[in-house]
Amino acid sequence: MKLDLHLHSFRSSDSINRPKTIIHLARKKKIDISITDHNSIRSWKELVSLGKKAGVKVVQGEEIKVFDENKNCIGEILGLFMNEFVKPKFYLEVIDELREQDALISVSHPFDFLRHDFKLLKTEFKKVDCIEGFNSRCYADSFNEKAKSFAEFHGIPMTAGSDAHFPEEIGMAFTEVKTDSLEDARKLLKKGKSTLHGKRSSMMVHIKTFFAKNGFFKPKNY
Ligand SMILES: [Zn+2]
Repeated sequence: MKLDLHLHSFRSSDSINRPKTIIHLARKKKIDISITDHNSIRSWKELVSLGKKAGVKVVQGEEIKVFDENKNCIGEILGLFMNEFVKPKFYLEVIDELREQDALISVSHPFDFLRHDFKLLKTEFKKVDCIEGFNSRCYADSFNEKAKSFAEFHGIPMTAGSDAHFPEEIGMAFTEVKTDSLEDARKLLKKGKSTLHGKRSSMMVHIKTFFAKNGFFKPKNY
């Protein structure tokens, strides 16, 4: 199974991906997906239902902003295999709430200091299950390389995802696991029995994100 484990829909203010478009392209590219909108689960229902009809497996996820004791943003946690919404808040509370629902906890682009790097990773990595070893939206290869070598050094399992905000990015990166079942995929990911694949997106997607945030694009249906 090839899982793009980091993907946004138009329910993230900086993405234009319609659920229909996501499922159409996932099916075309023969991948399964996780929907990880910024602090939102509003696309879960629609994507799970469209996915069922199209034969695309959908993991319910969320990209959650986390804060330190002084309410400074210290990064983003990627919750995967979730059942309930988790609000952005103090990072330990987010981790606790994800544990309560038996979610798989990864860290988005942990060394990408141009976006939200996870500033406490070096001391807190034992509290998460995985870190993102490849994210197609990292501006520099070195951010992904740093994540990968950190994970390898400490024996932390890794996830990969496109972080797609636009249709052309869907499936640019994926995590491969040797199973057809999502439940087994979760177990294999937790054990680190997965391989990462991916290419970096072009600089153009970052320029488009700026315009999307400012309402210049309309979601496109396929
Ligand atoms: Zn993201």
